[in-house]
Amino acid sequence: MAEGASTLIPTPRARVQAMMEYHPPLGSRDALRLDFNENTLECSPKVREVLSQISAGSLTRYPEREPVEAIVAGHLGLRAEQVALTNGVDEAIHLLFETFLEAGDELLLPVPTYTMYQVYASATDARVITVQADADLAFPFARLLDAIAPQTKVIAIANPNSPSGSVASREQLLELARRAPQAVLLVDEAYFHFHGETLMYLVGAVPNLVVARTFSKAYGLAGLRVGLLAGPAELMRWVRRVLSPYSVNSLALACLPVAMADTAYLDWYVGEVLAARSEFEGALDAAGVRRWPSRTNFVLVEIGARHKEFVRLMRAAGVLVRDRSSDPGCDGRVRITIGTREQMRKAVVALNETMFALRAEGEAQ
Ligand code: PMP
Repeated sequence: MAEGASTLIPTPRARVQAMMEYHPPLGSRDALRLDFNENTLECSPKVREVLSQISAGSLTRYPEREPVEAIVAGHLGLRAEQVALTNGVDEAIHLLFETFLEAGDELLLPVPTYTMYQVYASATDARVITVQADADLAFPFARLLDAIAPQTKVIAIANPNSPSGSVASREQLLELARRAPQAVLLVDEAYFHFHGETLMYLVGAVPNLVVARTFSKAYGLAGLRVGLLAGPAELMRWVRRVLSPYSVNSLALACLPVAMADTAYLDWYVGEVLAARSEFEGALDAAGVRRWPSRTNFVLVEIGARHKEFVRLMRAAGVLVRDRSSDPGCDGRVRITIGTREQMRKAVVALNETMFALRAEGEAQ
């Protein structure tokens, strides 16, 4: 039948029709990428070596995740049944929500935070309860505790958080876990390497604690799409029911053990970013641009009413940054990823030119 011959077309589930849409500005990114908090350089040379040795024949086979899960668990000091590899942390979030959230349940979220929690929650029948951070964007601990209810089923905390860069303390996270024993406490440690504090060593000891990690940030493997979820075996066996046995591809599986073993590369990259961040923060202060404290590989800055113009001018100067104005409580704010010192020195030149242009325009108006 010719396309368009019938007006009757299949309709998606009501839940899907009501889903929140999210289209991050990917595309035309051949510039200095300070917009997605990725590693801005490259992965470990040892990982590249593994990739170069992958044979055409090996691609004919389905990926075998279990041996790699055991190796990754060993690196984390956990048992294999406590760890599930996923197609990025995004799949981990999706899985966890599909496993635990149903009608009548609540997902508790401090905001602003990572957008995909709300996107995946909107595909479930659960209600999302958000707790807005104050103007300083610090972790709203007391109000999160107050928002815990018997129907709270998942509490999702990015630690460090994005786009704020703020952190929750170990004591605060453990208190949330203790006060909501009926809920899964997801601690998303996507930016762990830049912060250095983790709850991973408590996985299994705290019955409702689940920790997520990604290989997209410090490891520089965003394109391979690999992350993990670690939690008590009793919870992870339900998550594994929902997880596709094939969702992590064989290239990612081949690279992971080498990526995790090359701690020298990771230490070098993280050290470079932290040095670049403190230089860049100095440059922001010198330029009179307000910033929020950051424990990670990005900084949130206050640009004000002309945030769109700022992002456009920075792009014209070859630097991509991310407008976060539509995040709750972030009007006029822009997030800038931190790369290497060399890259950030270029970013400072672009920033100074852009601020000069904006201020000159402001005065002319
Ligand atoms: N969690 C947080 C807090 C993030 O900022 C991001 C990346 N933007 C992710 C998870 C997604 O990680 P992945 O690339 O592994 O899906």
